[in-house]
Amino acid sequence: MGQALQEARSALEQGEFPVGCVLVAGGEIIARGHRTNSARNHCNEIDHAEMVTLRTLIREQPARDWSRVTVYSTMEPCLMCYATMLLSGIRTFVWAYEDAMGGGTNLPLTELNPLYAEMEVTLIERIYRRESLQLFQEFFSTYSYWQDSLLSRYTLAQPLED
Ligand SMILES: [Zn+2]
Repeated sequence: MGQALQEARSALEQGEFPVGCVLVAGGEIIARGHRTNSARNHCNEIDHAEMVTLRTLIREQPARDWSRVTVYSTMEPCLMCYATMLLSGIRTFVWAYEDAMGGGTNLPLTELNPLYAEMEVTLIERIYRRESLQLFQEFFSTYSYWQDSLLSRYTLAQPLED
């Protein structure tokens, strides 16, 4: 998660929403990335940290066994990223800061159609939460993306506990 936080810091330094992502298999980092195009003129809701990182892995190692991949995200994945990673075969997710507005990992998989209902997923939550929260507080104090949103208000109201 420390490496994912480095990615998030790079995003913040570029004025982007500070989410970093690292994919790990066999104890090694196999791909890493961070949010792009959250700011300025090319703003979109596709280039999330996880999507950027998945694309890198697909480009560089197309034959990868996804079931052995663990994803580390500095923010709880959204529905798009979570579903994309599930459909790719990833089953182990570690994330740092809860997305109180748009997090998707509380999706009730067992109530969905068979493809999803039969997935066995491991979620490890709030790892390095404080470090990630700090980056989001810095972001929302500085930039306008999602300003005055539920997530922004929630984030700025969180105490930075040790
Ligand atoms: Zn996402």
